Amino acid sequence: MSAPDNIVSPLAAPVSSVWGVGGERARLLARLDIFTIEDLLLHKPRRYEDRRKFLPIRELKFKEAATVRGKIVAAGIKRFRRGARSMFECVFDDGSASLHCRWWQLQAWMPDWYAVGREFLIYGKLDDEKKPRTFTHPETELFEPGDDEFVHVNRIVPIHPLTEGLTARVMRTLVWRALEKFEGQMGEPEWCRSQGSGSRVQVQGGDAPALLKPSASNLQPSALFPSRANAVHMIHFPEELTDVEIARQRLALDEFVELQTQIQLRRRKFEASAKALPCGGDNHLMKPFLAQLGFKLTAAQTKVLREIRADMSGLHPMRRLLQGDVGSGKTAVAAVAALMALESGFNVALMSPTEILAEQHFRNFTKWFEPLGVKVVLQTGSRKEVEGSRVQGSGKARIAGPSTLFIGTHALLTGGFDMAKLGLVIIDEQHKFGVTQRETLVRKGNYPHLLVMTATPIPRTLGLTLYGDLDVSVIDELPGGRGAIKTFVRATDKLPKVFDFIHEKIAAGRQAYIVYPRVEADESDKEIKAVKMEFANVRKALAPFNVGLLHGRVKAAEKEAVMADFRANKIQALVATSLIEVGVDVPNASVMLIENAEHFGLAQLHQLRGRIGRGAHASFCILISDARDAEAQSRLKILEETTDGFKVAEADLRLRGPGELLGQQQSGSMKLRFGNLAEDLNLIRQARELARQSLLLDFPRTGVS
Ligand code: ADP
Ligand code: MG
Repeated sequence: MSAPDNIVSPLAAPVSSVWGVGGERARLLARLDIFTIEDLLLHKPRRYEDRRKFLPIRELKFKEAATVRGKIVAAGIKRFRRGARSMFECVFDDGSASLHCRWWQLQAWMPDWYAVGREFLIYGKLDDEKKPRTFTHPETELFEPGDDEFVHVNRIVPIHPLTEGLTARVMRTLVWRALEKFEGQMGEPEWCRSQGSGSRVQVQGGDAPALLKPSASNLQPSALFPSRANAVHMIHFPEELTDVEIARQRLALDEFVELQTQIQLRRRKFEASAKALPCGGDNHLMKPFLAQLGFKLTAAQTKVLREIRADMSGLHPMRRLLQGDVGSGKTAVAAVAALMALESGFNVALMSPTEILAEQHFRNFTKWFEPLGVKVVLQTGSRKEVEGSRVQGSGKARIAGPSTLFIGTHALLTGGFDMAKLGLVIIDEQHKFGVTQRETLVRKGNYPHLLVMTATPIPRTLGLTLYGDLDVSVIDELPGGRGAIKTFVRATDKLPKVFDFIHEKIAAGRQAYIVYPRVEADESDKEIKAVKMEFANVRKALAPFNVGLLHGRVKAAEKEAVMADFRANKIQALVATSLIEVGVDVPNASVMLIENAEHFGLAQLHQLRGRIGRGAHASFCILISDARDAEAQSRLKILEETTDGFKVAEADLRLRGPGELLGQQQSGSMKLRFGNLAEDLNLIRQARELARQSLLLDFPRTGVS
């Protein structure tokens, strides 16, 4: 992340302006993405070493690192007869005992530097069992009377991320020098300056250059923050280890405020330029739709629809994220939202990430909307245009009349159809798409309303950052009358029993999904099971019942046929890859078996599990895994313990980081050095408020949420 504008000048200087950084070191630093002074100052230590423990030499213990202070009483080069091996050794004495220090790489300056009579601070660990007491390659620092500033010893020292050819000591020295020279020129970012007195966040020292010794002893995290300069100092050279977290929070806050400022500016710009199409509707389609739906909307669905209607009849185009756990009934919400726009005379586009899901939506929406006189058109990669059940010629469709719902996959992005009257874009399972794809689709129209839906519950931290430019609605209730889902983790040797169990369930009238990580067996890793290989085994195990096969390489028409048979219970078990992860809705299916479960992410497993528990029957999710490592085991255990998608998502975020959780789209835009998306919800909230206040000073206006 780059620095706020106002502090760029001195810190943007190349890192070579630090004394001791020549061409070679600059090249090494570049490997660590350190190009400027600021990059160096924000190079976050990986860990710290407490070198304050001071001992008389006589009290040194094996295996315990400590610092001693001693005078050199003897020094010299030792050469060994065989080979050219030589060693520099000197003997320190502190009055309690003597200590031998050895360096195997003799450097030309050593004999002069380690001269008899000089006094040093020495940090190291006793070599085991050696007599006399010996340190090999200790860190030392010359002690001169009156000198109380040490970089490498007698303090908590930082160990930074390093690269080959750059030692911790060199890195520490460079950071120290950069701090000495530039710390005083490090100002506060804009948001800080604009802080009024009544603000919840106060910065110690305010604008004053922070040459003062940093101290955090009387600071409360997030109530009183150190100045930015102090924080940078503290993150490298803390007085106490507790300072580190305080400093990190301050620096993370700066990152989050910058991010929030960008998000809010983008939003303002959008609202200033985009005028909303009136899509609130008049209920003339919705009333008959709800009457024939067959169930009553839950209170959560109704609440969310109220929010959506307010948006769609408001001044600015809707930008809303609809979150609802798997099975919470987002499709029905999408349908009602679509009707609002259709009633208002606009077209609607609904994009889903897989063909299977697009087909499913197409079938449902056709059934629901055709009686209302709304045209439903399907456009996927393999099927150019389908309208109702009639296939039209490919190419640009001439759609007459306003009330058309387009359903499709990515093909909607490239499809040459007329979206002039596009009033609403709905994106299902948003986490499968990138932000740019979302934007492309929205730009097709004249600022249509946008509703993105996701069943991967997005932890609140991400909701406020990655999705910060969207308003959020949550369906926080599942429709009633659902059977509970039980989840079990089992080892492979239990498989025969598990298949007996599935056989039993099928015999009782239910259906099952059986999921493998791969399509084809991989020669290099025979442990990971593949659908094609296992298909025959499953058929045998579940005979005489019918088993279908579904994966990405099955042709579209066949996929459709298999899904149709499964829905009609002509097929009782479906062997598949994670292709069926999103959206598939077959309420009679009550068993989900996932082999090699450790190969899936937590969020993904939760999605897969969401395929069952959709009917009134008790459902069972069985995760097969022989993974022995503790992390894999504890991940799977989370699923055994909870069916709450939010808990699963938060655990996933902690374990794997945001990029993994949200797939392709993330990573790029957000390089946080100090901020932690898994932990910093409070900071993010503060940052949002701070960015808002600071923007209000710059552009006073009202009515911005
Ligand atoms: P998701 O939120 O995962 O997309 P779906 O929209 O596929 O969930 O809905 C899951 C199932 O719940 C569907 O079979 C749907 O018909 C049903 N459903 C949705 N809303 C309700 C409701 N209010 N009452 C009863 N069943 C509902
Ligand atoms: Mg869905």
